[in-house]
Amino acid sequence: MLRFAPSPTGSMHIGNLRVALLNFIVAQRLKLPLMLRIEDTDTQRNIAGKDEEIFKILKQMGVSWDQLVYQSANFATHLDYAKKLLDEGEAFYCHCTPEFLEARKQEAIQAKKPFRYEDGWALAEKESNPNPVVRLKGSAQDMEFNDLVKGTIRFKAAELDSFVIVRANQVPTYNFACAADDFTYQISHIIRGEDHISNTPKQILIKQALSRVLNTPQTPTIYAHLPIILNEDDGKKMSKRHEASSVQWLLKEGFLPASIANYLATMGYKAPKEIFSLSEALEWFELEKVSPSSAHFSLAYLRHLNHEHLKNLEPASLAKLLGIEPAKAPLARLFLEECSTLAELQEKLNAMFAPKDIAKDYEGQNFYDKCTTLYHALKAMPAVADFNAFKQEAMQRSQLKGKDFFKPLRILLTGQAHGVELALLYPHIVPFLEQILTLESAHGC
Ligand code: GLU
Repeated sequence: MLRFAPSPTGSMHIGNLRVALLNFIVAQRLKLPLMLRIEDTDTQRNIAGKDEEIFKILKQMGVSWDQLVYQSANFATHLDYAKKLLDEGEAFYCHCTPEFLEARKQEAIQAKKPFRYEDGWALAEKESNPNPVVRLKGSAQDMEFNDLVKGTIRFKAAELDSFVIVRANQVPTYNFACAADDFTYQISHIIRGEDHISNTPKQILIKQALSRVLNTPQTPTIYAHLPIILNEDDGKKMSKRHEASSVQWLLKEGFLPASIANYLATMGYKAPKEIFSLSEALEWFELEKVSPSSAHFSLAYLRHLNHEHLKNLEPASLAKLLGIEPAKAPLARLFLEECSTLAELQEKLNAMFAPKDIAKDYEGQNFYDKCTTLYHALKAMPAVADFNAFKQEAMQRSQLKGKDFFKPLRILLTGQAHGVELALLYPHIVPFLEQILTLESAHGC
């Protein structure tokens, strides 16, 4: 079983979504179940409703899961495991106060030595501190694990000192809850961000100890830590400050889930083709081919992919996404010439169908008068299907020609001063002429 284990502590970042997506792809390819585990044990940082937001985004992206678990529901199991570890001598109570540990750290700094917790300190403060933490015994040996993306990763014994698994307030630590659940659900593949690499040796030690005390063989685990995503401005880690890092922002801007999935699957990956759907990726994606070096986010490239995906949509699907009647889809398709997102298309359509503000492009009274003249001429005309015939008739009735005719015409028909060729738009405008030819009440007569 695989798992995607988001914490409901903030909005979903594209880095998290990439982890979700790759877990889904690998689970599908290996025909293994995928668990969605909401890691909600940090009650201070949990934000109400974030779990629902995660479900919604994953569904929109086409990522499904077979089992849903809230980590907090396993709280009793975590404490039960901790008790067994204590009973079997794999873990011990540590009464050290923060002040005591801080003093030892200062000593290490003075002696220019790395700080390492010593098990012999555990009872030193027993009298003054009746609320101990529980520590799992560290490792006296160096450790290594093989990562499918990053290769072999080694840790020195000096870094693997005994560490806290249950805090003084009886709350399991993040590493303990996470590893305990991975053990319980026999997780076989752990795919997550590389910021978790330093947690891995601790989690391996926890699972090894659990396997011993519970007398249950450990499920062999394949690890894959995905490189972080860097932002395009300064090449630093893409943080929440970058709006494009928020999946919700991208969806709100009108990036299609299919393009976002396409983009995330190609980050640090040489895909066999540029434009593909998630179901296509299921046919060829291989986790071991993900590059170990960090990926750079490019909004321009995502826009390009989105443009291609929008072009490939059936008109009916495009209309549905834009919430417009199907007859307006040809207009949306034409606007694709100058747009790359649904929000930009929406803006063009809104400008076309909203009452026109002819003062917006006010170029003096003269221009305003031309717009008004043309507007009245067009209103009085019968509908003409052919653009050339329509032009002739409108020129004749308005007595305007050249730029004096075309610029007001474009504004009256599209609400914009520039854009797609009118000759291309016009045939699809005809059915809506009456709706399109309206002026803002301030200018209308
Ligand atoms: N809850 C962790 C996070 O959101 C993920 C833990 C894991 O995948 O092991 O970063």
